[in-house]
Amino acid sequence: MSYLADVKSVERLNRLLEACRNNLYTFDEDLIRRAFQFSWNAHVKGKPRASGEPFFSHPYEVALVVAKEIPLDDISVASALLHDVVEDTGYDLKAIRTEFGNEIAEIVDGVTKISGAVESHEITRAENYRKMLLSMARDVRVILIKFADRLHNMRTLAFLAPDKQQRIARETLEIYAPLAHRFGLAKVKWEFEDLAFKHINSTDYEYISRKLNAKRREREGYIRKFIQPIKKRLEEAEYEFEITGRPKHIYSIYNKMVKRNKPIEEIYDLFAVRVILDTADKNDCFSAYGIVSEIYTPVPERFKDYISVPKQNGYQSIHTTVVGPEGKMVEVQIRTRQMDEVAERGVAAHWKYKEDVKASDRKLDEWLSWVREILEQPAVSGAEDAAKSFLEGFKLDLYQDEIYVFTPKGDLQVLPRGSTPVDFAFEIHSQVGTHCVGAKVNGRIVPLNTRLNSGDQIEIITSSSQNVNPDWEKFVVSRKAKAHIRRWINDETRKKAAEGEEAWAKRLKKHKLTLSEDDFTKLVRDLKYDNPQKFFVAVAEEEVEPDRIIARLTQQRSVKESAESTKPAHTFVEIARKASEGIVVDGSRSDWKVSYAKCCNPIPGDEIVGFVTTGEGIKIHRKNCSNLARMAGAARERIVDASWPGESSGLFVAGVSVSGMDRPGILTELTHSISSYQNTNIRSVSAEVRDAVFESQIIIYVKDKNHLDHLIDKLKKIVGVTRVDRMQGQNA
Ligand code: MN
Repeated sequence: MSYLADVKSVERLNRLLEACRNNLYTFDEDLIRRAFQFSWNAHVKGKPRASGEPFFSHPYEVALVVAKEIPLDDISVASALLHDVVEDTGYDLKAIRTEFGNEIAEIVDGVTKISGAVESHEITRAENYRKMLLSMARDVRVILIKFADRLHNMRTLAFLAPDKQQRIARETLEIYAPLAHRFGLAKVKWEFEDLAFKHINSTDYEYISRKLNAKRREREGYIRKFIQPIKKRLEEAEYEFEITGRPKHIYSIYNKMVKRNKPIEEIYDLFAVRVILDTADKNDCFSAYGIVSEIYTPVPERFKDYISVPKQNGYQSIHTTVVGPEGKMVEVQIRTRQMDEVAERGVAAHWKYKEDVKASDRKLDEWLSWVREILEQPAVSGAEDAAKSFLEGFKLDLYQDEIYVFTPKGDLQVLPRGSTPVDFAFEIHSQVGTHCVGAKVNGRIVPLNTRLNSGDQIEIITSSSQNVNPDWEKFVVSRKAKAHIRRWINDETRKKAAEGEEAWAKRLKKHKLTLSEDDFTKLVRDLKYDNPQKFFVAVAEEEVEPDRIIARLTQQRSVKESAESTKPAHTFVEIARKASEGIVVDGSRSDWKVSYAKCCNPIPGDEIVGFVTTGEGIKIHRKNCSNLARMAGAARERIVDASWPGESSGLFVAGVSVSGMDRPGILTELTHSISSYQNTNIRSVSAEVRDAVFESQIIIYVKDKNHLDHLIDKLKKIVGVTRVDRMQGQNA
């Protein structure tokens, strides 16, 4: 790093250090020196200012304004020196962070971003710009440096092109002046207003200032005459004080002329006399007021006590208007030195009077909370609406929950913090959001889930073939975008579901399958879909194949049906009886109408007898049927011999029920096992699987009980089989 070679630079550094010494509570001289040196080196090769001065004169003057007019701490003075380094020189933020640490780097970054955002756009809605400005400044010192920066730029505005002058002047009047007022920086506010007014309405500005100058001698003479007796009395009362008479600033005189619709000659309060008491006791102000009102008659309705009730920006003073010599009205302001400092320098002056604070961090914290306190108080008077909306905006920004971004045309949009280009797109128009395919932020293509920052300029790329991507729902934050995406998804889902439902119905029809509502509900649940709509969407999106589901349903159904039709014993009985092809009564096939008694339910193989009924032909009972015994007791003659015809062929029908754990091929193994044993004939097989357990009923022809028992033993040995029973007719 080269050291300062020229005399001018050394002089400048000394002047800045002096200003710090005079105005700051404490400061790190080495830090100021290093920042000065760094800034000087960084800017030395840069373009000169429009004024022809080397560029370094700008950050230097800004630092001087901070030190003298908005004195807070050494960090803000150093940051002011460095505020244009990132924007205008080859050094980046990293270099500043390495050299000066995080705090200064953050402040410089904030100032740089504001310059990029605010100053490159036309103002359309001033209050949003003010909000944006604040939302970009996490550290209040960023705003203070912006004030100083703007003040120096306004002081040198004459060197810029006329259109630029107009734009900057308007911006100053609409954004910076009200903001300075909110921070209690009266002097800065006045200077903003007068400098801006001078460029916006130079005719009226020149007229008023000419008039003020023409009457200056006259006015100064009058002020001297007015002050004289007050001065005398205050000295007699042994007050330490300062008394001055100064003209009001030009913009405020202009506003009075407009508001009261009067020429400048008829505006009486062109100047105010100010009494500043070097005292810590605010009651001295009321005593001084008493003295003034003994000399000149006060106008009662113009008395204002801002000491007991300070203005919302912290301003304290007594205002009174009295009738002076020649019957002229004169405004007198009475306040203590501390009140005057706060009035002139705003909140920055406040901590200076807090004696118990030592560490600069604590000072800053206290100061910030004081700023917050002021700003969170409800607006009281004056431009209520503007102040109120600003106040609300400021509160929001303090909690940093909004961002302010630009359209390509420079229109400002307010979005919730965390917003993405998709949120922005839906904010512009639902169609822009719906067809959004990409986005450029500050000229660079970015992913659609990129988080936007205050001051970003966003361009949305759309395509008519693109539609809402349901994934967007995961990252958007604005209510508008969320609602649109949700609605779109719902509509799509409905459309998809309708499509799927139609496809499903077609497949069902093709397979000639009908499903009851209960069956369908069960199916959807079995397939693990939350609701029918989701199932239909899955069908539409071909996540499931209806044909496969239908095939399974059909299979299940036939198994169920056959299981139903082969209810053990019942079916067996029927099959067995049918297989027996008629009953032999009294040794021969008879033409008797034969039916089976329900009480004992005889099956082939049982010893049976016939019982002649009245009108129902012959009922077949088991020989040992207790019911029959009771009935026959009265009418033995009605019992006839009966037998199964199959017995004569040497084979009879038997039923076997087999159950076990289901596994592929088990049924084949069962049937094979049966038919391979002594060529046993199988008449029918049915099976049902429930929860991996299978149950099967097999009807076979056996020679005798021995044959059946062996077969049962054989079946029991098959892997997976847990139970084999002979089916009994009585079970029906
Ligand atoms: Mn600057």
